[in-house]
Amino acid sequence: MKLKRLNEKTNAFITLKEEVEEAELYFSIKDNICTKDMRTTAGSKMLYNYHPPFDATVVERIRGKGEILGKTSMDSWGFGTFGTNCDFGTPRNPWDLGRSPGGSSSGAAIVASALKERNVALAESTGGSISCPASFCNVFGLTPTYGLVSRWGLISYADSLDKIGLMARDLKDIALVMNYIVGGDERDPTSYQGRVPDYTRCFGEIRGLKVGVPKEYFEHVEEEVKEKVMDGISLLDSLGAEIREVSLKLTKYALASYYIIALSEASTNLARFCGLKYGLSAEMKGEFNEYFSKVRGSGFNQESKRRIILGTFARMAGYRGRYYLKALKVRRLIINEFKEIFSRCDLIAAPTMPILPPKFEEIEELEPIQVYAMDQLTVGPNLAGIPMLSVPIGFSRGLPVGLHLMADHFREDLLFRVGRAIQEHTNYWRKVPEL
Ligand code: GLN
Repeated sequence: MKLKRLNEKTNAFITLKEEVEEAELYFSIKDNICTKDMRTTAGSKMLYNYHPPFDATVVERIRGKGEILGKTSMDSWGFGTFGTNCDFGTPRNPWDLGRSPGGSSSGAAIVASALKERNVALAESTGGSISCPASFCNVFGLTPTYGLVSRWGLISYADSLDKIGLMARDLKDIALVMNYIVGGDERDPTSYQGRVPDYTRCFGEIRGLKVGVPKEYFEHVEEEVKEKVMDGISLLDSLGAEIREVSLKLTKYALASYYIIALSEASTNLARFCGLKYGLSAEMKGEFNEYFSKVRGSGFNQESKRRIILGTFARMAGYRGRYYLKALKVRRLIINEFKEIFSRCDLIAAPTMPILPPKFEEIEELEPIQVYAMDQLTVGPNLAGIPMLSVPIGFSRGLPVGLHLMADHFREDLLFRVGRAIQEHTNYWRKVPEL
């Protein structure tokens, strides 16, 4: 295993474990998931020296099941789509080092795709941070139903949206590790206490499954991406699934609703980083506000500051009704729209991202709002809290493309069934980048 070299080339890890034992299965952990034996930075300078005194529930649950390799790089606090907001070096796409690996779970996807050994990445999504990098790096990425996996010990971005999920080259490994990490947790009151299936057994015929293809999800999508995704949908058709066009008319409101809700929650969550309890601090002098501003002014990067300000504004008295409360109403309508589709279809299939992995120079040219717009296909299902799976579906110009499968709440079984059928009939997922 050439972890050091992989890391030098790609910046996949923020913290790499010094010594790794031989094992059948390896784990990497996104750096916003607390580990008691490794520092946990959430990708931010603010927590550069934070050593949690506990393991997150998901970490507790994988201990002893394999070797943990280290903590993977991410946009600080999960704020980003391309990995370009990480305070500890910019992660690079292993398929082309001049391009983005996707964000915010950048390192998770890099390790899952570039490491030859069997490995599973623990990652997190608020608005697409598992699907996006999974599609840009050619691995499977599962974002479970909101609440299915305990969030206890996750450094919160936006509590009503955050989900811990998994990435791997082989979907069977994701199923195995899902079995370890699901299950109620009294420390996370939103965690699901009900029965769950054995995910390693969720495979079989897909004949007769109804797959909805939303026309709005192809509107601002690059031709090359569309072509590969359509090939994937044709494969499902040839395996006997019933493909039908559906419409998700509220798609155009999803971005605004998502960013208002996510940033409103983020701005309050980040208030706890005041230089007293966690991480970065400074010499105590002057008024509290002076101290607080000094620590936060130097600990938060530009994107974090932008989001704290926007989120605070959206919830301010006088504006709350116009932005935050309205966004919540739109969210409810979006959930209803997905529910209506799932009363007629088993699954929804669409492109994961509207573009191929972009070059870093191209990203630099974009305004923040243009970057946010890249999440157009992933924020809707994240707002709805439904499970989703990005599946490797081919390469265009040597760059990976992802097919996004979405299912109704707690229907991960269907995602595994269809994902495994695609896996049996394709070979893209087997490819490992040359580094
Ligand atoms: N790109 C989205 C954002 O910046 C999603 C991030 C995430 O899922 N953590 O909010």
